[in-house]
Amino acid sequence: MAEGANPASQPESDQTDAETTLDSHPRRESLLIRERLVEGVRSGITSEHGLIAHGRGEAFDYLIGERTREFAETAIRAAVGTLLLAERPIISVNGNAAALASRDLVRLSEVTGARLEINLFHHSEERVSAIEQHLVKFGGTNILRPSKDAVISTLSTDRRYVNPEGIAIADVIFVPLEDGDRCAALRATGKSVITVDLNPLSRTSRDASITIVDNIVRAVRRMVKRATELRGVENDPLLVADVKQYDHAEILQAAEKALRTGL
Ligand code: ATP
Ligand code: MG
Repeated sequence: MAEGANPASQPESDQTDAETTLDSHPRRESLLIRERLVEGVRSGITSEHGLIAHGRGEAFDYLIGERTREFAETAIRAAVGTLLLAERPIISVNGNAAALASRDLVRLSEVTGARLEINLFHHSEERVSAIEQHLVKFGGTNILRPSKDAVISTLSTDRRYVNPEGIAIADVIFVPLEDGDRCAALRATGKSVITVDLNPLSRTSRDASITIVDNIVRAVRRMVKRATELRGVENDPLLVADVKQYDHAEILQAAEKALRTGL
């Protein structure tokens, strides 16, 4: 054995090889986020399809530099203002959102007064329960589940069921990582839809009222911070201006330009 080398039974630190590799990996954050999602599949929170949807998001995150850009900051300000000014706001949670951002979604619900409603693309009662328990673990209360008593009439299959006290009567819905069909159907009922979607070209991004082009992990954390600053001052002129002056098309254009030009 060379002088100074450790015998195999005495490693220099208790980090696993995988962790040591991650420490120096340029995509460290991205890989840690991916791990959370894989854990979500293992614990029955996230569907396998959710992994693929996440992969699509990762590619766009890579292109925007894996950081919150100015177009996202502007959308976050408008989104928080809209939630605070809403009469019946709701936060819709799916399997990917739960695996990646439960703690901050619960905090956002507390700060804005918007109730959490579980709504899945690939519905199963077991997954709804697993997500509910996961949210409760982070302090979530009064969580709404989809119910056969209320439907979005333009959708077919289980995706049309919503909660009669939640999405069915909401004026503003925050629904990160939504699918295009459901986003369009919710908009068609006259509701404001706020989304988080790393692809500014998706149907969801285009059809929503406000689109935050950012990773859900970063975006919801920032929303909580902004909402905490503004809670109780809903008529603050700056907050009202953030909402009134918001230009959805301009923000999407800026996001698309960033993707295409790298600027
Ligand atoms: P649409 O149905 O809106 O046209 P799509 O069919 O291309 O979109 P879906 O699979 O329905 O995509 O939804 C996944 C969307 O969520 C993708 O646009 C993807 O970029 C985005 N996404 C995935 N993971 C994240 C994440 N962690 N943060 C933000 N957005 C994400
Ligand atoms: Mg889709």
